[in-house]
Amino acid sequence: MTTKLETAGRALTTLAEDEQLFFDSVYQFADREIRPLVREMDEHAKIAPELIAKLFDLGVMGVEVPESYGGGGATFFHSVLAVEALSRVDPSIGVLVDVQNTLVINALLRWATEDQKRRFLPKMAADTIGAYALSEAGSGSDAFAMATRAAQRGDEYVITGRKLWITNGNEAGLFIVFANVNPEAGYRGITAFLVERGRAGFTVGKKEDKLGIRASSTCELIFEECRVPRANVLGEIGKGYKVAIETLNEGRIGIGAQMIGLAQGALDHTIRYTKERKQFGQMIADFQAVKHQLARAATDLEAARLLVYNCARLRDAGQPFLTEAAMCKIYSSEAAERIASLAINLHGGNGFVKEYPVEKLYRDAKIGQIYEGTSNLQLETIAKQMLS
Ligand SMILES: Cc1cc2nc3c(=O)[nH]c(=O)nc-3n(C[C@H](O)[C@H](O)[C@H](O)COP(=O)(O)OP(=O)(O)OC[C@H]3O[C@@H](n4cnc5c(N)ncnc54)[C@H](O)[C@@H]3O)c2cc1C
Repeated sequence: MTTKLETAGRALTTLAEDEQLFFDSVYQFADREIRPLVREMDEHAKIAPELIAKLFDLGVMGVEVPESYGGGGATFFHSVLAVEALSRVDPSIGVLVDVQNTLVINALLRWATEDQKRRFLPKMAADTIGAYALSEAGSGSDAFAMATRAAQRGDEYVITGRKLWITNGNEAGLFIVFANVNPEAGYRGITAFLVERGRAGFTVGKKEDKLGIRASSTCELIFEECRVPRANVLGEIGKGYKVAIETLNEGRIGIGAQMIGLAQGALDHTIRYTKERKQFGQMIADFQAVKHQLARAATDLEAARLLVYNCARLRDAGQPFLTEAAMCKIYSSEAAERIASLAINLHGGNGFVKEYPVEKLYRDAKIGQIYEGTSNLQLETIAKQMLS
């Protein structure tokens, strides 16, 4: 039996030594290498290319890739820590790393054949960015109503259709693309394909001009008779819906991590500012009203972090986490919006201008309630589990 002494200090948020070292090294990198570029990348809506190479060198682009394939051989929880640490400085970089690890690599680790793992995992850990292409203009929340088709022709599949809103579209070298091979079978026709950039018939279309996470590219993908070998089917034919459901359940924990990182970043800026700014002859952090608002924000963030960490730990322990992932995403994205909004209020007029970093974080927070399943869809998931 575990003794009181053994469980003492093992709070959900207590990191193991290697987790703490990893988090600290990623945050220090973000502070040193990303922070000076944040405003310019937001204005130009583009991630600085030199930063991408550095992210690979840092080891955050293949966190869970086994060492035998050149990756970090770490846990899902480490991926979550990386996304949190990066998002504390720039949630656009947070989502780049999040999609890479919690969606694309995660799907490869679970569904790829040995041949596919050998072909793709070393590249993902070394220099190739991944993207995850499910949504279309006509199918967002109702993702399985997709219109993209894949027709079998001999040993190949021919993909035709358009994907919309695809994160990392501009930078990615490998795309997981969902298409229906048998529309009459409904969602049971959906199949996942591994499509490399440069395949004939595949082009990356327009890039969206967005409210927030502006440096992260969000693109349309166009498939015009794009031929993909049978060897690039990820998982089984007609089981793409399973690939999508399972990876997105885990991806939501990553979005939770992005949101708690963002909220922590907004709180960091606000604590600093309220201790510097003086009004009525005293620093504004000394006003009780301000102190209480900061205390409430810290409480909100702690609750969100507990939900995210618990969920990531459940996932690594192989325990069910469907409801918990929906709860962690909805709560952390709403908390991030509340905390970023308070950050603007407590910066006064300075909160409203681009010279200070908090207006960007407020814009960035909004996406947490939309992608990888809107808040309404998360509530549906939670209610369904409760009432079943
Ligand atoms: C910046 C950004 C990045 C993205 N990255 C990716 C990506 O990398 N890959 C990818 O595949 N997709 C991506 N998406 C797409 C994203 O997942 C979808 O936008 C999202 O799932 C919502 O779909 P929709 O935009 O079609 O909205 P809709 O589904 O049209 O929803 C509109 C509103 O209706 C509500 N609604 C819909 N159905 C129901 C229902 N049954 N019950 C109650 N309310 C409902 C929604 O909650 C929402 O409020 C991204 C989107 C953005 C904006």
